[in-house]
Amino acid sequence: MGPAARGAGACAKAIGAVIKATINTSMCTTKAIPPSTRAAEVPYDRTMDSLIEPSSLAGLKPDTIAISNVNLSLGTGAARVHILKDISLNVASGEAIGLIGPSGSGKSTLLMVMAGLERPDSGEVVVNGTAFNALDEDALARFRGRQVGIVFQSFHLIPTMTALENVAVPLELAGNPDASSRAAQELASVGLGDRLHHYPTQLSGGEQQRVALARALAPDPAILVADEPTGNLDEATGKQIVDLLFTKHAERGMTLVLVTHDTALAQRCDRVIRLRSGRIDSAGADRKAAS
Ligand code: ADP
Ligand code: MG
Repeated sequence: MGPAARGAGACAKAIGAVIKATINTSMCTTKAIPPSTRAAEVPYDRTMDSLIEPSSLAGLKPDTIAISNVNLSLGTGAARVHILKDISLNVASGEAIGLIGPSGSGKSTLLMVMAGLERPDSGEVVVNGTAFNALDEDALARFRGRQVGIVFQSFHLIPTMTALENVAVPLELAGNPDASSRAAQELASVGLGDRLHHYPTQLSGGEQQRVALARALAPDPAILVADEPTGNLDEATGKQIVDLLFTKHAERGMTLVLVTHDTALAQRCDRVIRLRSGRIDSAGADRKAAS
């Protein structure tokens, strides 16, 4: 498969991931995903939720992301590719990781595994104390909605919704009664307080990525994963987005995993991880604290 086909495949997979996330969670809307104060009204089976460990009860502060011996192959027949090969990686709470590597090395796939959008064939993924293996698809989707923010290269906003509606979606799915005002606050905090009722086509690329960032941040996730978030933007706009991303990371103390082709950008993270042909080349060798 050539680089162009690979790019198209990754993009299609990313779009599929968003649709999967949207469908997974929107399927639950009629069943409601209310905050714990409304637990008595919840009709769905919460057995699986007991496996989602509230971070406040965790006592010790574990690594926010703990990946052990993960293997993942995708595709069928001759097109089957062993993408992630025995990956183990721990990311501390609040840490910012820059994930770099050649095109096709598995960066996006690893990000999808961390976000619970791809399940590995073997190995374990634990995010904020919750083991993904123990969760069924619905529980995993609920976990994602609360704990994982995702930003893609091509924004993936819903075109028929305004900026405000796009940001309100994950909040509504999480049962937030003030979804709309919270979404407006979040948009104001990324500098789009005067674009609430614009549709994605009425916004510039940089503005669309700000909306996507506001949408990812709105549920106050424990981890934020960003897959080449500046890839579709010009250099100056990309820098603004990245500055905003790091500002939000610093303000909120969430864990950040940033996939980028840009080595200088990756160096702004606490640690740079390099993937090569589905394996980690160096993990933590250049952790800033160690230097
Ligand atoms: P990166 O983000 O580092 O460019 P990806 O994680 O998108 O790499 O892809 C890693 C490899 O896995 C590539 O060789 C790609 O062609 C392959 N791949 C990705 N998705 C699929 C799929 N659904 N089926 C088969 N191969 C895939
Ligand atoms: Mg990629």
